[in-house]
Amino acid sequence: MRVLVLGSGVIGVTSAYYLALKGCDVTVVDRQPSVGLETSFANAGQISPGYSAPWAGPGVPLKAFQWLFQRYAPLSMRPDLSRWQLQWMSQFLKNCSLERYTLNKSRMVRLAEYSRDCLRELRADTGIQYEQRSRGTLQVFRTQKQLDVEFKDITVLSEMGVPFQHVDPDGCALIEPALIHVKDQLLGGLHLPDDETGDCQLFTTRLAALAQTMGVKFRQEATINRLITQQNLLSGVEIKTTHGVENLDADHYVVALGSYSRELMLSLGLNLPVYPVKGYSLTVPIINGDAAPVSTVMDETYKVAITRFDQRIRVGGMAELAGFDLTLNPRRRLTLEKMLRGLFPQAGDVSQASFWTGLRPMTPDGTPIIGQANSMYPNVWLNTGHGTLGWTMACGSGQVLADLIAQDKPAIETSDLQYSRYKR
Ligand SMILES: Cc1cc2nc3c(=O)[nH]c(=O)nc-3n(C[C@H](O)[C@H](O)[C@H](O)COP(=O)(O)OP(=O)(O)OC[C@H]3O[C@@H](n4cnc5c(N)ncnc54)[C@H](O)[C@@H]3O)c2cc1C
Repeated sequence: MRVLVLGSGVIGVTSAYYLALKGCDVTVVDRQPSVGLETSFANAGQISPGYSAPWAGPGVPLKAFQWLFQRYAPLSMRPDLSRWQLQWMSQFLKNCSLERYTLNKSRMVRLAEYSRDCLRELRADTGIQYEQRSRGTLQVFRTQKQLDVEFKDITVLSEMGVPFQHVDPDGCALIEPALIHVKDQLLGGLHLPDDETGDCQLFTTRLAALAQTMGVKFRQEATINRLITQQNLLSGVEIKTTHGVENLDADHYVVALGSYSRELMLSLGLNLPVYPVKGYSLTVPIINGDAAPVSTVMDETYKVAITRFDQRIRVGGMAELAGFDLTLNPRRRLTLEKMLRGLFPQAGDVSQASFWTGLRPMTPDGTPIIGQANSMYPNVWLNTGHGTLGWTMACGSGQVLADLIAQDKPAIETSDLQYSRYKR
């Protein structure tokens, strides 16, 4: 079976790897010179099933409004002059009820937990190294209100058997020793010991190299111009390279184009609710390892994650709804620097840091879209819309998608991950 995977971010590459394991003849196409160079390039490095939750939730509309007037707010909005932005925001608001939030969170936790297990298995099978650590996530809270919200939010974790532990400020400093100097600023924390960390782009690059040894072909610097259809099948993809225009064909097509998935699928009559939500990160070389985090610390006040790699710290977060704009806003850099200095003042040299931005492919319900596109085009498969947690959910999503294409039964329920859930 020949499969063409569109997109070589972490989602496209994991899809290709699991399809190759099934014995498929896989080609991956991407416009970038190498894999993992767009949103998968410099994310916050969290593999965090315990932290999996949709952004749309009770109280979020009011909070979002208040954030509009705050200097270090985690969210900002700028009209991109499209009707599509308004439609997406209205779908997002509809998902803010407690009932929708709980349902969406349970789907995300299910996939994320499975995905972390798939990643562990992949690591055991291949020995892949990506500056990974298995030391959990520590969410830190500064206000009673944050603690109260968190106490309500752990029901799904308990129901799904995800281990967690509430800790006081001293407990925070036991888990993350460098926090000892700032523990007076904290009211407490939630430790998620089964979460992991790692460099997503390094993982994507090394997995692509492994996939190549299994026969997967990579066509980089190939921009997908359009889809070619014939009756009820997708019959090919037109690509543009430095050598000119060319058509590629296969038996099945996997759409893993991140934030750009919607644009291409419109030509098949599918309106995927995937909007680009811009985020920023700062990668800082470590100058004092003892003053740095040992894993991920999630600062709930600013919704910023601070993650330890071998010799670097990645600080990532913030959300801007502003279309496909990739301008690096220097004010955001200052905010990230402030967040790092606030919790780990002696850890890194921010003057040597690299600043980055990426577009999270977000669905309004936070859950990715995995499975057959629709019955009109049975050979088109979607693996997109992973939003804030694409690195966390990549291996599980790739495995599930490969199972569905090969007509094997996935190990987890997938019917509610499909595009058809929006039709109900
Ligand atoms: C600041 C920030 C922090 C984050 N932190 C975390 C985290 O800690 N943990 C976590 O789990 N997730 C995190 N995420 C989310 C995660 O990074 C994304 O969900 C994930 O990278 C999405 O992967 P993808 O493969 O779908 O998209 P991408 O990596 O963007 O891949 C899509 C690919 O499609 C290609 N493409 C698009 N259009 C075309 C075309 N027309 N022709 C050819 N190629 C095309 C692009 O070149 C790209 O390589 C974060 C995101 C951001 C922005």
